[in-house]
Amino acid sequence: MSARILIVDDTPSNVKVLSAKLAKEYYEVISVDGGRAALKAVKEEAPDLVLLDVMMPGMDGFDVCEQIKQNPKTTHIPVVLITALSGREQRIRGLEAGADDFLTKPVDDTTLFARIRSLVRLKHTLEQWRLREETSGKLGLMEETASVIDSGTNADIILVDDSTVQKTNICEALSVDNDRVTVIEDYDASGKIVDLGGDVVIISLTTEIEAPLRLTSRLRSLDPTRQIPILLIGDAEDMVHFNKALEIGANDYLTRPLDDQELVARVRTQVRRKRYQDRLHENFLKHLSMALTDSLTGLHNRRYLSTHLDAVMERMQESEKPVSVLMIDVDHFKKVNDTYGHAAGDEVLHEVGQQILRNIRGFDLAVRYGGEEFVVVMPDTPAEVALGVADRLCKKMANEPLSVSGSKEKISITLSIGVATTRDRKQTPEALLKQSDEALYQAKEAGRNQVIPTPSKEAQNAI
Ligand code: GH3
Ligand code: MG
Ligand code: MG
Repeated sequence: MSARILIVDDTPSNVKVLSAKLAKEYYEVISVDGGRAALKAVKEEAPDLVLLDVMMPGMDGFDVCEQIKQNPKTTHIPVVLITALSGREQRIRGLEAGADDFLTKPVDDTTLFARIRSLVRLKHTLEQWRLREETSGKLGLMEETASVIDSGTNADIILVDDSTVQKTNICEALSVDNDRVTVIEDYDASGKIVDLGGDVVIISLTTEIEAPLRLTSRLRSLDPTRQIPILLIGDAEDMVHFNKALEIGANDYLTRPLDDQELVARVRTQVRRKRYQDRLHENFLKHLSMALTDSLTGLHNRRYLSTHLDAVMERMQESEKPVSVLMIDVDHFKKVNDTYGHAAGDEVLHEVGQQILRNIRGFDLAVRYGGEEFVVVMPDTPAEVALGVADRLCKKMANEPLSVSGSKEKISITLSIGVATTRDRKQTPEALLKQSDEALYQAKEAGRNQVIPTPSKEAQNAI
């Protein structure tokens, strides 16, 4: 997977060496020599990853990292801090500034590339979601995602570990963030992890190395856990396994002896990332549903109907059971608006929608088709059943005036309904809707407050 990488370092020879290595692996490289230039480049060049030197005159790497991560527009760009110092303080400071990882000079190539691949992959996933969000934004479907910068605390952590001492230590360390830790001792319990569905999974490497790697791979292949961050714990000698794990989808690792503060900082980074991704996802689903439902009645809209009806009629061809459609129109609705006001009219439409929902089955689909027109799609439904439903709805509406908050008196309305039924494989969804519309027209002509089927009752007997 190719990517654009921004190198930030004030020492030209460092930039040269690193650029050459990356270019050899076909990465596109941009470089700058200071903090301010880095922030500018992040904004203008939209890199997929930033490799950031810590020790720079003026604005240092920590500050730059903090600014990238505090900005909702750039917080999703992975930042790897690179430094000559391997001190614990520095590492913690970097992680607290929001760095996704911390590498020590001289940088080991295998580790560097395993990291880059893993972080770039993640960035691209996030980018997909952001892209959808942008598209929806352009269509006027949504506002900007609530790009809250999350504290990454109060998380649900799953710890897969069979060492009693270590798991006690981890639970204790994470308690400073109020994290809730569930311990699982069985490395084959991916199903249990799916059921628990936490914010982060921590997997401890054991002497039997295959089991943790197998679990990592399994979690990545299962839908519910595909996006869950995975953090590994192992020994410094486990480097080969760490790199392997990053390749198959783990997000980060820590080496023993565990440093509590570093553990907390790395878990926090993963929790934040997970929640950011969840927010994008939720927002997308919310707006997707907004695009397919009608806001006044909560029923599906016309756009949804066309896709749904296509599918229903395709299925009909296989099941050979008929499909029925009701085309429903409120009689003299203009008068409702004129008499009680537009707001009361809106409420009436909402109530009609509710009444329709109460009178159909779960697998029927109710749609607001236009102003005061509704459509019900009824799969596997012969004409007499559809007629029965339509008749019942029609009578209910006529007999039960609606109470709405916009009017003191109850509002009486009636419906006209056209019913169309087909089991003809060649019939198109448009033709079926048109047929029901023609029946509706006949119902209006015949005096309203009634149901007209098509084909007519006599003709149906012939089918
Ligand atoms: P008919 O019995 O022939 O159907 O008469 P009608 O008055 O119901 O039909 P017409 O098509 O003449 O008028 C429909 C009215 O519905 C006109 C329009 O202002 C109103 N309407 C359409 N959408 C809405 C809406 O969302 N809210 C409200 N309050 N009124 C709406
Ligand atoms: Mg009408
Ligand atoms: Mg109408």
